[in-house]
Amino acid sequence: MPQKPIVFDAPQPEPRARTVEALKAEILERLTYSVGKDPAVARPHDWLTATILAVRERVIDGWMESSRETWRTGNKRVYYLSLEFLIGRLMRDAFSNIGLMEPVRQALDGLNVDLKELMDLEPDAALGNGGLGRLAACFLESMSTIKIPAYGYGIRYAHGLFRQEMSEGWQVELPEEWLAHGNPWEFERRESSYEIGFGGHVEPVQEPDGSVRHEWHPSEHLNAVAFDTPIVGWRGARVNTLRLWSAQPIDPILLDKFNEGDHIGALAESAKAEAITRVLYPADATPAGQELRLRQEFFFSSASLQDIVRRHLQQFGDLGSLPDKVAIQLNDTHPAISIAEMMRILMDTHGLRWAEAWKLTKGVFSYTNHTLMPEALESWPVALLERLLPRHMQIIYAINAEVLTEARTVAGFNDAQIANVSLIDEGGQRRVRMGQLAFVGSHAINGVSALHTELMKKTVFANLNTLYPDRISNKTNGVTPRRWLLQCNPGLTRLITDRIGPAFQDDIERLADLEAHAEDPNFQAQFAKVKHANKQALAALIKERLNVTVSPDALFDVQIKRIHEYKRQLLNVIEAVAHYSAIRAHPERNWVPRVKVFAGKAAPSYWNAKLIIKLTNDIARVINNDPAVRGLLKVVFLPNYNVSLAETIIPAADLSEQISTAGMEASGTGNMKFALNGALTIGTLDGANVEMREAVGPENMFIFGLTAEEVAEKRSRSEVPRGAIDNSPALKEALEMISSGVFSPDDPNRYRELIGGLYDHDWFMVARDFDTYADAQRQVDTVWADRRRWNAMAIRNTAHMGWFSSDRTIAQYAAEIWNVPTSRGGA
Ligand SMILES: *Cc1c(COP(=O)(O)O)cnc(C)c1O
Repeated sequence: MPQKPIVFDAPQPEPRARTVEALKAEILERLTYSVGKDPAVARPHDWLTATILAVRERVIDGWMESSRETWRTGNKRVYYLSLEFLIGRLMRDAFSNIGLMEPVRQALDGLNVDLKELMDLEPDAALGNGGLGRLAACFLESMSTIKIPAYGYGIRYAHGLFRQEMSEGWQVELPEEWLAHGNPWEFERRESSYEIGFGGHVEPVQEPDGSVRHEWHPSEHLNAVAFDTPIVGWRGARVNTLRLWSAQPIDPILLDKFNEGDHIGALAESAKAEAITRVLYPADATPAGQELRLRQEFFFSSASLQDIVRRHLQQFGDLGSLPDKVAIQLNDTHPAISIAEMMRILMDTHGLRWAEAWKLTKGVFSYTNHTLMPEALESWPVALLERLLPRHMQIIYAINAEVLTEARTVAGFNDAQIANVSLIDEGGQRRVRMGQLAFVGSHAINGVSALHTELMKKTVFANLNTLYPDRISNKTNGVTPRRWLLQCNPGLTRLITDRIGPAFQDDIERLADLEAHAEDPNFQAQFAKVKHANKQALAALIKERLNVTVSPDALFDVQIKRIHEYKRQLLNVIEAVAHYSAIRAHPERNWVPRVKVFAGKAAPSYWNAKLIIKLTNDIARVINNDPAVRGLLKVVFLPNYNVSLAETIIPAADLSEQISTAGMEASGTGNMKFALNGALTIGTLDGANVEMREAVGPENMFIFGLTAEEVAEKRSRSEVPRGAIDNSPALKEALEMISSGVFSPDDPNRYRELIGGLYDHDWFMVARDFDTYADAQRQVDTVWADRRRWNAMAIRNTAHMGWFSSDRTIAQYAAEIWNVPTSRGGA
């Protein structure tokens, strides 16, 4: 449909004033006229909404300006497609980035409202599971900060990831109700809705010129409706859009059916459509669960691509310029079906020929790989794709034919290599491999740390890398220093500013100026004082949530992340048991008091992960209540790990546990947040730990354990870990305590199988890394006892983490993948 041209000199309102007085007046006005509440009876949630609405208008001023500029200049746009955006709370981020934190605080003071109290009321947008989703959120903020015109595209899950509660130490999953009070940050765009189809059949149509065009006639339809959230960069540099899609039925109610008395049946279609955007990671243990997941992926991919192509045509009028004006980044393979969808839109809707469409598609897409674990590489049964997306299946076959021809004729691949690069896995039930699809349809593929990128080239994509050399590159992850230092740790931010000036706030690599102060006893004392205050706050939270008393003078040893066997919370817990045993056996020794903090969610169908949570809680109960321990060791598991909890825990950590089985953590970003906030890392040579060690110096980290190569070698020999256990009395005793029921007297066999796995195959090398890990922990104790040395190391960690900013990562994507300019500094 023809669109009206954009008129840039249309009248604009005056930008909103930014003074305390103006804010105060407007918060009152929003409360009265938008929330509809008399200030005399307004509740805290009403004030929260009114405050966000008032500040939002300042954000909108920048938003309009950013958008007008992109339309005016015709600059290239970046589209970041991700099934997850773990953005957390938005209020502190937005207020702080546009520089209105203090004025708002004062305005609210004048109204007798406490900003801190309001901030705690804001729900976390938990639209993600872990690192991958948090990365997407950091990237959005960085793209705004370095002024890249960008959109995030994802799903507006009504319930997001589940809320975790504990029941007798077991995880229980409850729906997250983040929208219960509405969401004042978002704008529903009814006018931006697209039809999404599923099922049906494909009809070849003979064109007058003799060519054949394909028409897909889906049997099911629903609408994708856009909800937009503005994302402000640091100092308001630019405001980009996070566009999340919500599924809605085309016919909300079948009135005939309803009037016939079939009330439920009349609404069934509606419920089915809406189910698509209800929850993140529906359990996929059943075929219905798997299908829902594929529906989610196609739903948001299709809506996003229709929107991108519509916007491009509206502005530029031709499709040939797509790669010059559009870059689409696939965050893992979840949106990889976009490649087939783009081909369908270009050919079936716009009549392009195959060769042209394929060239444009590859010019536009690039793909980030986040995992090499075979069970995590997405694939879909051919039969399911054929039924749900018949036209896309045809296109995937056609792409595959082209790739396999090249592999045979150009690269001279043998049958094994052909089978390896094929988009179709022919072993057993035929499946479409989404990693292969994403790879062949992209001009650039990146890993997320140096080590992970190398492993990618050697393992899953070895043959594709031979076939298409130079597509793979590394873009080591980063985190936004605004959220993960300036906002979550105001005490440290103030201290650093006092010492080296505020320049680091705009150029985070200036943190390196702290190096010169690392040995200064006065600065060390101040640094430790800030950490102590953060630990007091965390101790208060632990008391409030768990009723466990911990001393802020103890060493706070923290492992917070999704619960997974490869992340090896089990190694940490077993070491805690061994340590507990040693404290009891040797009361005469000078033990360093420690608090072990855990948090993290387990996937609902991942039994061992849930069992590890229960084990942690079982052990915590025994250790925390054993008078013989004399408070020298405490173990706590904080429920419902999310961004807000991370923002409280990380600034209070002394020791950061990054102990994954080497070769299995693609990058990690938690590791970066901790070090930035002055925690020392105990970790393996895995993911970005490797590069962190180079940045901070090996003498400022506690590295232990097998390397990725050694792990691969042991696995290939199927070596049994018996020796590792027999030769380590401490490990043996700890394992026997756990498996014999010392911590589970109500069910002594609860952990028998879990521990049995360590004797049997020990896939994750828990037993084989135990001794070096325990030694590293005692090394930690030794350094902690020399507090000046510890503090110097902590300062050096903060000083050298500037490179791990997502601004740097995004600048690399911009220069090396997207081909878009960047610029720094506020508007
Ligand atoms: C940073 C972050 C993660 C990723 O942590 P890793 O330790 O890298 O796995 C996961 N969840 C939340 C809430 C985070 O903030």
